[in-house]
Amino acid sequence: MTDSIDREALAAARESARPRYEEFSSSGLKLDITRGKPCTAQLDLAEDLLVALKPGDHSTEAEGDLRNYGGAAKGVLALREMFSPLVDVPADQLVARDNSSLSLMHFCVASSFFRALPGGEKPWAGEEVVFLAPAPGYDRHFSVCEELGVQLRTVAMTPEGPDMDEVERLVAEDARIKGIWCVPKYSNPTGITFSDEVVRRLAEMPTAAPDFRIYWDNAYAIHHVRAQHDRLASILDACAKAGNEDRAFVFASTSKVTFAGGGVSFFGSSQANVAWFLARDSMRSIGPDKVNQLRHVRFFGDTAGVEAHMEKHREILEPKFDAVATALDADLTPLGIASWSDPNGGYFVSLDVVPGTARRIVQLAKDAGVALTPAGATFPGGDDPEDRNIRIAPSYPTTEELDTALQVLTTCVILAAGEALLD
Ligand code: PLP
Repeated sequence: MTDSIDREALAAARESARPRYEEFSSSGLKLDITRGKPCTAQLDLAEDLLVALKPGDHSTEAEGDLRNYGGAAKGVLALREMFSPLVDVPADQLVARDNSSLSLMHFCVASSFFRALPGGEKPWAGEEVVFLAPAPGYDRHFSVCEELGVQLRTVAMTPEGPDMDEVERLVAEDARIKGIWCVPKYSNPTGITFSDEVVRRLAEMPTAAPDFRIYWDNAYAIHHVRAQHDRLASILDACAKAGNEDRAFVFASTSKVTFAGGGVSFFGSSQANVAWFLARDSMRSIGPDKVNQLRHVRFFGDTAGVEAHMEKHREILEPKFDAVATALDADLTPLGIASWSDPNGGYFVSLDVVPGTARRIVQLAKDAGVALTPAGATFPGGDDPEDRNIRIAPSYPTTEELDTALQVLTTCVILAAGEALLD
């Protein structure tokens, strides 16, 4: 990027950016493009979920009356069958749970300290445990590890997925490395989808730890932004084919399908891992919220109903992603001071700016009334070694708010690049 910087054009752009910034700063803005939250129009799409169950509608053929304890250890079968093709896990190996997939990830990491995983010799308690953190990545994955005393080892993300040469080398030689975080489709934040080759290599690679797990957080499996959808190879099939069938834990949820925090979540894996999960899970809860699971079954009707619903989300999101691409392209492309993603799905645009300026940009934007995700948040420990990545979340603001926030953002990118390169 820095090779293509046009310094003369940058100097001129900075001159016009200065008064623009002053104007924004004095206009009392209060905008927020920090977190990937659905907007109100998206939440409205699921409004009928609130009335999806009428009095008397509380039973299924497979489980009978869902209002009481018991009867659906893996969750409501009709829901598992509905989502099975969407998350690429056979219904029999798919467990439906409550409102948060992140809580399932936390639970799996925590439980591994107390109960040996299939293939493992003993629980992790008392050992030094390390997870690989492809970065930029999802900050809450990193927080789970920090919370539970798991060390993070950063590996680079490429347009195809994690840098597999590095991943293979590390897991082969270091038995302390027990896991890797993956957001394999429409990744948070870079928006890329892992290539078939990366999926295959993750499944096949020799690991020093016999109980190594891939945390396959398929949070954006069906969250398309463009009419052109990415395709992700099945990690469970790849692991089974490689003779490592217990290697992957798959997670997903409807947090950005129905209601964020009011949806249903999924855990999928080999039969042995599902048995391990259920044994642990049955100690913390007598069973999941089957009534909310039934509500989701009724609301969607079938798998095609889920896909049709996601198409409506897509229609709301696409113009917002267009707005980001258009603003960044108009203001920054001529100067060569940034590069960014234009993903086919997910919730984020990943913006790479002049190294050493991300923090400064976030601060400048904050001072002008626009909250951006803290610079570095997409790296373990909140520390982006090059201080260059900024995550843009365009879903939540209105189109007008987003347009203004983007003008402020590009103005700050220009000012910070000027300070770094011209002063
Ligand atoms: N995983 C990823 C990659 C996410 O981006 C998010 C939310 O932003 C989550 C998990 C949280 O999911 P849930 O609401 O199911 O806990």
